[in-house]
Amino acid sequence: MIKAVTGTRDILPIDIPRWYQLEKIVKDVFGKFNYKEIRTPIFEVTQLFSRGIGEGTDIVSKEMYTFLDRSGDSLTLRPELTASVVRAFVEHSLDKKQGLNKLFYIGPMFRQERPQAGRFRQFHQFGAEVLGSHDPLLDAEMIIMAYDILAALGLKNLEVKINSLGVPSSRDEYKNVLREYLTQHIDKLSDESKKRMELNILRIFDSKDERDKSVMKDAPLLINYLDDESMMHFDKVKKALSNANVPFNVDASLVRGLDYYTHTTFEIISGSVGSQSALCGGGRYNGLVKELGGADLPGVGFAAGIERILLACENENSFLADDDKAELYIVTIDKTLQDFSFQAALQLRRQGLLVEIDYLSRSVKAQMREANRLDAKFVLFVGGDEFAKGEVVLKNMKSGEQVNISNENFDEIINKIRVS
Ligand code: AMP
Repeated sequence: MIKAVTGTRDILPIDIPRWYQLEKIVKDVFGKFNYKEIRTPIFEVTQLFSRGIGEGTDIVSKEMYTFLDRSGDSLTLRPELTASVVRAFVEHSLDKKQGLNKLFYIGPMFRQERPQAGRFRQFHQFGAEVLGSHDPLLDAEMIIMAYDILAALGLKNLEVKINSLGVPSSRDEYKNVLREYLTQHIDKLSDESKKRMELNILRIFDSKDERDKSVMKDAPLLINYLDDESMMHFDKVKKALSNANVPFNVDASLVRGLDYYTHTTFEIISGSVGSQSALCGGGRYNGLVKELGGADLPGVGFAAGIERILLACENENSFLADDDKAELYIVTIDKTLQDFSFQAALQLRRQGLLVEIDYLSRSVKAQMREANRLDAKFVLFVGGDEFAKGEVVLKNMKSGEQVNISNENFDEIINKIRVS
């Protein structure tokens, strides 16, 4: 038997109503904030991600699905979408068409990570990016939208963590302070973190290694080295969140993995999903558009992991979504009338009803069982003496009431079902 590739999953029909519900809420919330959807290709040239995400990141250095195509070009399955969105923005000169671009996306991403609960190799994200404004209100807007989506899904056990990485100049100054501190403790660091000191020093804060953690516990914090402009930006974000009734905690060690962040970073954590607890993360990236060949324009965005959010919903039992119920099941009593049933179902479906018929030549009893399995609201009996008289019988499955209707009068059938 051929199985799905490790770290990938089938989303079966039984799971789909939850995906639909989540996607609807995502599109509703983004829509209300006037974000427009963008869809970019599943694969891009590898350089987009190595430049756009950064060589020193885990994603680029060890997680990308990179391959040579038959022309020898190096391509990569998208591991996240910010770089792709910015590429599309630059390629289509979207900044020339309007001053501010508010974009959202939803779709699959690919990273060769070690699979575990809540961590897959093909997973799905939704997210948003705003390109073209420095306004801290937009940093807050990202966090508010993410929070509102999670709240609309009924999630309660949430923690919003925010931090500021400031502008590059104050960060560079801080990096020197941090490097000095770490050099004093270099013997106690893991090999991985020693490497990170050169490549991506801030990421040492993310290390799960106990040796690193004990060193980082007393490390100087970037938040204490922010310049006035960065402090003001951060204060405005915090004020907007408070006014929006979004509870948050400042976490000075939240640096996130990507090289291009400036000012705000944030994550929303769920207490209901075990160790892979980050439901979403994002921040401001003021250098990225330029890095990818565009004008020197700022951006801010976030991405949220759908599988993890659905897991949190399941664990918190917060779901309302259910499959759509059949409105009508047509029981074909005489097999010779199958064409009639098929035509009747077709007409009623085209008028907007969810209708099912039998395609397995089942007995009447087995068809009734199927109607019950589908939880059909009504059953229509086609056949027997009634049909000989030009009638069909419509049964309300809840009340048990039955009425005879002319077998040509589909409007009457629809009316009876609609008023019930
Ligand atoms: P990131 O793009 O790494 O900031 O991730 C944003 C969100 O995507 C995370 O908070 C997770 O919810 C989700 N995510 C990232 N990587 C994975 C993965 N391998 N499997 C499932 N979800 C993921």
